[in-house]
Amino acid sequence: MPTAVVTGGAGFLGSHLCEALLAKGMRVICVDNLDTGNLQNIEHIRDDEFVFLNQDVTHHIELDECVDFVFHLASPASPIDYARLPLHTLRVGSYGTHNALGLAKFKRARFLLASTSEVYGDPLVHPQPESYWGNVNPIGPRGVYDEAKRYAEALTMAYHRQQGVDTSIVRIFNTYGPRMRPFDGRAVPTFVRQALDNKPLTVFGDGSQTRSFCYVDDLVRGLILLAESGEHEPVNIGNPAELTLLEMAQTVVKVTGCSSEIVFEALPVDDPQVRKPDITRARELLGWEPRVRLEEGLERLIESLGHKLG
Ligand code: NAD
Repeated sequence: MPTAVVTGGAGFLGSHLCEALLAKGMRVICVDNLDTGNLQNIEHIRDDEFVFLNQDVTHHIELDECVDFVFHLASPASPIDYARLPLHTLRVGSYGTHNALGLAKFKRARFLLASTSEVYGDPLVHPQPESYWGNVNPIGPRGVYDEAKRYAEALTMAYHRQQGVDTSIVRIFNTYGPRMRPFDGRAVPTFVRQALDNKPLTVFGDGSQTRSFCYVDDLVRGLILLAESGEHEPVNIGNPAELTLLEMAQTVVKVTGCSSEIVFEALPVDDPQVRKPDITRARELLGWEPRVRLEEGLERLIESLGHKLG
């Protein structure tokens, strides 16, 4: 039975990935220090092949078992979290990624780095292909996250080229679904929480900035396909269906059937104006593309919160 280590496995994406790997018949070792994750995300997993280790990945990771895959997802991921934990974010992207890569090297395991579309910064190329090098402000408030991920990518390629580790890099675009924290500051859980409370939906700026939202099940399927492939260069995984944040807020209002108004607030510093993945490589290399439409994904998210849709 293959064994996968999932760092950050008690977080939003990590917990869904753990479940999907167990469903594929793998043994899963979830390594998480619960900084932004939560035991509630994994407490329903009652599988004998699931192990939880409460450990900080910035410290050496020692495991006796054979390991076939290391999925490295540990990192604060929402702007609120990395603004609160700037030094930790840099440490987990650097020391944490060193340790996860070291584990993969020692165990001769396939390694997958969860990178991000934030490596493209405020992009000057649209949509963003993996060949685009990005437009990142290293000293702005988002720099701790963006540069930590850019460093982690450089480190991953160095372990691959110099140490022969079998690595892969996924650049994840905005993903949403059950288990996102309602107050994590990201657009979808914020809009859904506000709509279900019949409160005004707060859109930053004039709402004309665009994003592309991928449902978590699609994303996790892409992560596993990439891990099982032999690809080493970065691959974008995200939904290319682009919409403005105002359109997103209007869609949440429509799906929930709430009577909330939409209000506008100041735009955060360095908020990217556009974001849309070019998924040609994911299509060609992995045969991957998203299947879940936005309205359907939102309905699943809302129902997971115990809310009945009419
Ligand atoms: P999350 O905050 O829900 O999960 C991150 C997990 O990492 C948490 O469980 C947290 O406790 C854990 N963690 C943080 N520091 C740690 C440390 N030092 N040691 C051990 N565990 C630690 O965030 P998420 O949305 O699930 O994101 C998971 C990964 O995917 C992150 O690497 C993030 O950068 C990447 N990503 C996510 C998105 C998205 O839309 N959700 C987009 C791009 C990239």
